[in-house]
Amino acid sequence: MKPKQTILALLMLGQTAFAQQKDLVSYVNTLQGTNSKHELTRGNTYPTTALPFGMHTWTPQTGKNGDGWKYQYFLDKIRGFQQAHQCSSWTRDYAVFSLMPMSELVVDENKREAKFSHENEIAKPNYYKVKFDNQITTEISPSERGAHLRFSYPSGKASYLVLDGYTRTSGVKIDVKRNRITGYVSNGGGFHKEWKSYFVVQFDQPIKGYGTWENKGNTTKAGATEAEGDGMGAYIEFKPGVKVQVKTASSYISPEQAELNLERELGADKNLEQTKAKAAKVWNESLGRIQVEGGSKEDMETFYSCFFRASLFSRKFYELDKNGKAYYFSPYDGKVHEGYMFTDTGFWDTFRAQFPLNTLIQPEMHGRYMQAMIDAWKQCGWLPSWSFPSEGGSMIGNHAISLFADAWAKGLHTFNPKEALEAYLHEATNKGPWGPANGRDGWREYYQLGYVPYPKYREATAKTLEYAYDDFCGYELARLTGDQYYMDIFKRQMYNYKNVYDPGTRFMRAKDSDGNWGKNFDPVEWGGPFTEGNAWHWQWSVFQDTKGLINLMGGDKNFTSKLDSVFSVPNTVKVGTYGGMIHEMTEMVMANMGQYAHGNQPIQHMVYLYNYAGEPWKAQARAREVMYKLYNATENGYPGDEDQGQTSSWYVLSALGFYSVTPGTGEYVFGSPMFKKITLNLENGKKFVIEANNNSRENVYIQDAALNGQNYTRNFITHADIVKGGVLKLNMSREPNTQRGLAETDKPFSLTK
Ligand code: CA
Repeated sequence: MKPKQTILALLMLGQTAFAQQKDLVSYVNTLQGTNSKHELTRGNTYPTTALPFGMHTWTPQTGKNGDGWKYQYFLDKIRGFQQAHQCSSWTRDYAVFSLMPMSELVVDENKREAKFSHENEIAKPNYYKVKFDNQITTEISPSERGAHLRFSYPSGKASYLVLDGYTRTSGVKIDVKRNRITGYVSNGGGFHKEWKSYFVVQFDQPIKGYGTWENKGNTTKAGATEAEGDGMGAYIEFKPGVKVQVKTASSYISPEQAELNLERELGADKNLEQTKAKAAKVWNESLGRIQVEGGSKEDMETFYSCFFRASLFSRKFYELDKNGKAYYFSPYDGKVHEGYMFTDTGFWDTFRAQFPLNTLIQPEMHGRYMQAMIDAWKQCGWLPSWSFPSEGGSMIGNHAISLFADAWAKGLHTFNPKEALEAYLHEATNKGPWGPANGRDGWREYYQLGYVPYPKYREATAKTLEYAYDDFCGYELARLTGDQYYMDIFKRQMYNYKNVYDPGTRFMRAKDSDGNWGKNFDPVEWGGPFTEGNAWHWQWSVFQDTKGLINLMGGDKNFTSKLDSVFSVPNTVKVGTYGGMIHEMTEMVMANMGQYAHGNQPIQHMVYLYNYAGEPWKAQARAREVMYKLYNATENGYPGDEDQGQTSSWYVLSALGFYSVTPGTGEYVFGSPMFKKITLNLENGKKFVIEANNNSRENVYIQDAALNGQNYTRNFITHADIVKGGVLKLNMSREPNTQRGLAETDKPFSLTK
């Protein structure tokens, strides 16, 4: 963009932002889902204080250094305020350091913690505030790569601040003259060995006393200004009863870049209020991309709290040089490259809804993301599957191809499809070193036998199902780009789901290398051939060919009665190979919806499948039931792990009235919208409005529909129709319309016609 155009674009952006400046951020509760523990998850989230997709986030810390459960709602002591990047409690964190204010110098993290209560806490995306019982107040407002903090000490008491270097090697340098601490941390897994996160911490009050310390033996060195080693930190003292404002920013590239990030993002802010107001504006613009009206305050809070959390992952991993050009330190090859990079997501979770939501709401960023995946493949040798911030290979499947196919199907042509297909073929015909989803576990047998055999491979049936979907995505990307070579390769496998369907029991099942079905089959038994679920949950993972699955299962009636059965059979659990209750099992039992386990990913698209088999009204009722029953904006607000925006994105899309059952097709399948009016303010300047007349908690059924004034009988809408702008008008009713949307042409995409 030329400078003149940039100014014009900024002015236009300013105008839309102004026009949309509703205080949506006030609906968000960042404590949603924080009442979680190892045995039972209500989200496994932390009160993230950050900008949308921001590189660094800030949070209070109740857990020990290195503990994944960094903030648990039921605890009443805080031991620090952290720079954080956690994807999930199960994966710990990286590039963390923390600041802790106190009136008496205590460096030991187990002894310095201070009591607080939730009445003295405010938790918003743009502002976190807590007043300890000891009267010290902490406030935080975020920037993209830093934060503005303010510590207010009670008058007459000493004012100390401890910087904790967290785990592994860190370095600190206190500059007394300039009232600042600079340094680096290097904690986190899977990094290139050269990796460091450089920070700068600038105070607006003079440093009166200082020293360094280390967090293994908690020994201090008064008067020292520099330290480097395992868990090194610093402490400083201000004059008693002070209010000190702290600006901090970090960089993965260099100490100089950290300074630049600080200057660019926070330099002009005279006080925390300015940073807070700027952050509110950014969030209101971001959340304002979807405006909902005509619901209860509670529904608004749930919606915007979920939309907030859907707008955190994947994080920006790039920085802007002095000319404003994007560049990044690659966590893959340890070199600095030009361009964009993103991280912190597990595709097994997020290919389903979080990325499809981004294609709709954040297409420019998503387009950059596609090129970043190609770059990651070139630097790493493998496509990302679990980025944190380098490649983790956790869970199963090769879902990068789902993102590529979905982007291309939706007109986001920001990458070379030949490179994507080449990278995917490599992924699908090799096994990488870092976990089951780095390359393809069991790929040889998958091609030779048409399925992954069990017990030779763990979670083999789940793998067969997801590989077949991924191969469909490879086929589809090749088809859309006219590439016969790759079409021929991937076409052969995309029906492989049929090879693990047992017509005898009418379930997907384990099959051994000789073709025998597993013994002592029980559909409520978890694990074994399945990933974090059982045969009831994995039955439906044929995203690419629901019609083919319906045929296998004996037609529409058999199919829909099995969908019904998911909710009507008892919520019994057999722990199987897990050997004990895992939290996903407990969450399914607690939901009390039979075998419906919305707290985990495999079944999250299931309610929408009624649309494919002539009973769309059941999808409408079930989608609303799940939204009402399993989500709210409180600390108990999720039915299980939130998982990098996925479980939130399920809610956001479902609340719009549709869901991305088959990423790679550009279709969204109908459920029932939560609000009377929803406006999508699209990046291209167009608006798409969903009007649901007569909508209420009881009136959840679609009586009839019209798209741009034309009667609309389909049970899905295309991405192309949405981004053109327009109006989808629904008339809602208390009784289902059992005649609408029954024609074959009304059904969403399936490979089988
Ligand atoms: Ca999960």
